[in-house]
Amino acid sequence: QPSESTPAADDAARVLRRVFGYGSFRGRQREIIDHVVAGGDALVLMPTGGGKSLCYQIPALVREGTGIVVSPLIALMQDQVDALRDLGVRAGFLNSTQEQDERHRVEDAFLAGELDLLYVAPERLRTPATLELLARGTISLFAIDEAHCVSAWGHDFRPDYLALSVLHRRWPGVPRVALTATATEATRAEIVSRLGLEQARQFVSSFDRPNIRYRIAQKKEPRRQLLNLLRTEHPGDAGIVYCLSRSSVEKTAAFLAENGIEALPYHAGLDARTRAAHQARFLREDGLVMVATIAFGMGIDKPDVRFVAHLDLPKSVEGYYQETGRAGRDGLPSTAWMVYGLQDVVQQRRLIETSEGGEVHRRRASAHLDAMLALCETVECRRGRLLDYFGQECDPCGNCDTCLTPPQTWDGTVAAQKVLSAVFRLRRERGQGFGAGHVIDILLGRQTEKISQHGHASLTVFGIGAELNESEWRAVVRQLLAQGLLAVEGEHKTLALTEASGEVLARRRQVAFRRDPERAARAESAART
Ligand code: ADP
Ligand code: ZN
Repeated sequence: QPSESTPAADDAARVLRRVFGYGSFRGRQREIIDHVVAGGDALVLMPTGGGKSLCYQIPALVREGTGIVVSPLIALMQDQVDALRDLGVRAGFLNSTQEQDERHRVEDAFLAGELDLLYVAPERLRTPATLELLARGTISLFAIDEAHCVSAWGHDFRPDYLALSVLHRRWPGVPRVALTATATEATRAEIVSRLGLEQARQFVSSFDRPNIRYRIAQKKEPRRQLLNLLRTEHPGDAGIVYCLSRSSVEKTAAFLAENGIEALPYHAGLDARTRAAHQARFLREDGLVMVATIAFGMGIDKPDVRFVAHLDLPKSVEGYYQETGRAGRDGLPSTAWMVYGLQDVVQQRRLIETSEGGEVHRRRASAHLDAMLALCETVECRRGRLLDYFGQECDPCGNCDTCLTPPQTWDGTVAAQKVLSAVFRLRRERGQGFGAGHVIDILLGRQTEKISQHGHASLTVFGIGAELNESEWRAVVRQLLAQGLLAVEGEHKTLALTEASGEVLARRRQVAFRRDPERAARAESAART
């Protein structure tokens, strides 16, 4: 490669060694750095932990002037800058948490050419005062970190990012590097168009994290299941447990603590000092478990997180990938473990339906959820499905639950027809929708109060489902929802048919379900005796 002999490339290698203390570049770092040092624009897609920071830090040190880093991670700027200063890099930041004196000192240092890197919060950067300031100094490059924040459809939209298109217009000669760990084709296209990066070279790394073992199990007693995982497979390990709500974060942290596992809560309802203290302890101490909402983790660089557990279904595959990606940055074997159940599907569908956004937003959120559910219910390699979502291919990996213990499937066409016709009859004959619990009671032929109250024992579908037990019917309903063969509607979470349901009822479509591992075990032992 000709670039290896250029002085700039030599400088980059020297900076890598002398400043950062690393012997060699990782993945495509070298290519990216050479390209930016030479003045080119770049769009860098690299998984979390892949080493994105060096891709702008080294060019900023090699090129003349100050590298301006736009980052939404205000809470982490101080830490990032401190870490750079420890390495002898002249770094500073400008954000809203700062005293005026401190801000002036940083501004003066920038104007005097005494900064290699200046981190700026996006809402600062859009102000005329900041743009004026930048215009009076020398800029080596713009790095736009977490560039997916510019995507209005993404999971982490920041309106301030939209204003970043001004950078290109005001400083056409200054190279820009946009970096993200979110790699879908749609997000990529949106970053390019919104930031005016049509001319930028795109560097797409593999998103595979081979040391992470993906596992998704059925939710039964989530906290017990979690405790069991920690005790049997991760005793004394550091890890992150994600929950959807603040209250479930608190309860889970307390539950783990009661059971002798050192766990701390983290969510936006805690005051800033508690949050900072818990985060600091997690980073510093060994073997702590952080129980958190998704407010926790962005930009956290702890190499030895051995597991990431989800007690609730993430809203999107992107979110799932980013959150699980915090495990095993050191490359050692790690676990991404999740439990999910019917309630998750119902709850998330409800959240979408009652959300503030318009119809387009809801449809988008629904599509995100569908993709996440498809990952949960797949009978194929999880890693394969995950990478496929990001437009990349891989062979069955041998390191996920479906590869290690291939799930059995069963022909669920008849079971599906029973559920769907119960829903259909309730709606048509009684003009009313009902939730999953009641529909299952009808199939099982239970004489509940609600059933006698509505006279549902006289329905032809009453009691036709004795071949499965309640938890198996719940699995059927969950998978019907996941496959889009059933929908949840309204405040009371009533079940409704979809267009595709008709094909099943008309016997034009077969339905296959994952066999619940317990049922599979029972079937096996029954076959043996
Ligand atoms: P990202 O921003 O992509 O999530 P980081 O830039 O934070 O990743 O890097 C992740 C970790 O990998 C950091 O601890 C970093 O110091 C380390 N790292 C990055 N590049 C190299 C390299 N070439 N050699 C060794 N370690 C590296
Ligand atoms: Zn696999």
